[in-house]
Amino acid sequence: MRIVLIGPPGAGKGTQAKRLCEAYNMAHIATGDILRANVRNETDLGKLAKSYMDAGELVPDQVVIDMVDARIAEPDAQDGFCLDGFPRTATQAEALQELLTERDKPLHRVLQFVIDDERVVHRLSGRRVHPPTGAIYHIDFNPPPADLDAWTLVHREDDHEDVVRNRLEVFHKQTAPLIGWYEERGLLSKIDADGEMEEVFGRAREALDAAADA
Ligand code: AMP
Repeated sequence: MRIVLIGPPGAGKGTQAKRLCEAYNMAHIATGDILRANVRNETDLGKLAKSYMDAGELVPDQVVIDMVDARIAEPDAQDGFCLDGFPRTATQAEALQELLTERDKPLHRVLQFVIDDERVVHRLSGRRVHPPTGAIYHIDFNPPPADLDAWTLVHREDDHEDVVRNRLEVFHKQTAPLIGWYEERGLLSKIDADGEMEEVFGRAREALDAAADA
């Protein structure tokens, strides 16, 4: 199955994408993760992307389109993939449509994760990452263990409240219009993303299974 996840930052797309990929045997393609790995490794792509990412702005379309074009050609994506964080603009959506039509591999479903902006701000501005283990905590919902050295926790640059608000604005301006675009093509399912991880996962599965049966 080939699917796209659309939703504001902090809607839990990344977590759900990982679970859905295991359940439906899809390759997880998260453009934000690929870009962050490039920033960490100080590649040319990472150097170009960093200032956009730190400000919560989108990296230029063609850069991300080329990245996805190369990634969906890899062997593990041949049986299916879940695009997490792409497309984010009309130009990216059109490019994706072309890439997939050329390869005769159309999308099966687009899941829209629906969540209120203020919930997102609370979720993201309280998030802390623990790079040595990759664990993700939240100062209110999932506090780090008391014996963890607080200095090893990172508050991601783009999780600071002002940047989160900018990311939300970018989402509403540039990405939200894609929702109607996919709805017109009969591909969209809306998922209520406010709830426990397990609950939201159940809703996403239901939507995918219903689409597969249709
Ligand atoms: P994410 O982890 O998906 O929230 O992505 C983190 C950051 O990476 C975004 O705020 C953008 O700066 C950049 N990014 C990720 N995906 C895209 C995309 N499809 N188009 C442009 N920029 C992207």
